[in-house]
Amino acid sequence: MNTYQQPDATGHFGIYGGSFASETLTHAIAELRDAYAKYKNDPEFLAEFHYELAHFVGRPSPIYHAARTSREMGGAQIYLKREDLNHTGAHKVNNTIGQAMLAKRMGKPRVIAETGAGQHGVATATICARYGLECVVYMGSQDVKRQSPNVYRMNLLGATVVPVESGSKTLKDALNEAMRDWVTNVERTFYIIGTVAGPHPYPTMVRDFQSVIGTECIEQMPAMLAAQGIPGDQPDVVVACVGGGSNAMGIFHPYIGFENTRLVGVEAAGEGLDSGKHSASILRGSPGVLHGNRTYLLQDEDGQVTETHSISAGLDYPGVGPEHAYLADIGRAEYVGITDGEALEAFHYLCRTEGIIPALESSHAVAYAMKLAKTMRPDQSILVNLSGRGDKDIGTVADLSGVDFYDRPSMRGLQVKGGK
Ligand SMILES: *Cc1c(COP(=O)(O)O)cnc(C)c1O
Repeated sequence: MNTYQQPDATGHFGIYGGSFASETLTHAIAELRDAYAKYKNDPEFLAEFHYELAHFVGRPSPIYHAARTSREMGGAQIYLKREDLNHTGAHKVNNTIGQAMLAKRMGKPRVIAETGAGQHGVATATICARYGLECVVYMGSQDVKRQSPNVYRMNLLGATVVPVESGSKTLKDALNEAMRDWVTNVERTFYIIGTVAGPHPYPTMVRDFQSVIGTECIEQMPAMLAAQGIPGDQPDVVVACVGGGSNAMGIFHPYIGFENTRLVGVEAAGEGLDSGKHSASILRGSPGVLHGNRTYLLQDEDGQVTETHSISAGLDYPGVGPEHAYLADIGRAEYVGITDGEALEAFHYLCRTEGIIPALESSHAVAYAMKLAKTMRPDQSILVNLSGRGDKDIGTVADLSGVDFYDRPSMRGLQVKGGK
């Protein structure tokens, strides 16, 4: 029986979550809370949401048995939930559709978002184009320079990208600027948050929209396991990478009542958990308040948020969704770290062994599953959330490999060296 009932009426997951926001936003947050409470069980709202997921995103995404990888690891069978096959190439679009649908119903013609690497910005710009909503995306000016293809994508989709010049000119500065915009234009503006963070009801709402991932898996896994003659209906372990934690909550949440299924979240250990250069908020952080909720975060003794690092921009975030903090404390989910090097190795391995180029974020989950599989039996199973595709990351990987793919002589050499 599933006795898990979180959060409480005030948006608390145990001691985590809640709503910490300036007085000027109290009304906007309450308005959103009421709208979400009204629509989340509304048959017409849900029918439209599922129609969009089917026809615009291409859901349900398949589950794929990574047979060669499983055989080479010599242990548990590895299955991949293919969120990389969604329109726009990752899980983020599931959530932006839900929030844009709410914006329309709340009569807000204007959407704002903040983005670091640009993935959430692109998903938001996509859905605003789809629904005819004005879209403004805040992005640190450092990130604008580093992520120019995504900036151009947002432009093509009709969004306005505002470079933020304050502070470190990165994600946290973009966040502050988005908040400022929301306060100023609250009457006609909806703020789309891209992960299970922010003040209540965002962590719950984003989790609910992303839960389509786990709900599909519960339906799909029995036939997948039966096809390989694996006993049982559901996987022994579910593995997902954790940045803010939305793809992980999306696959974990429907599985919480399945006591025989272990849930493992993989944080970015960067250059090592003890190097000071990582983004492992649960493994190395402590409770504090960030982005409107109480959660685990990376901070110094004075409570100042510290610099984070990860090879993958999507995991490079100093906090984590409050529900993960709670699941970690009660022991229902386990959290582990995977380094930049291990993730990169898994990235190359999956490319060559399965013909799938994974996102660097997702490569963290794949790396852990490959390690874990070796310690398990061939009649056991691991389900990995492959949160996104790696097309966006090939520039980063090429740089790390010393390859310039706009340089033809270097490419000719690569083709010879790269042959298997
Ligand atoms: C943004 C992103 C993540 C990290 O965000 P979560 O909220 O932790 O899921 C992971 N994978 C991909 C492909 C992403 O784009």
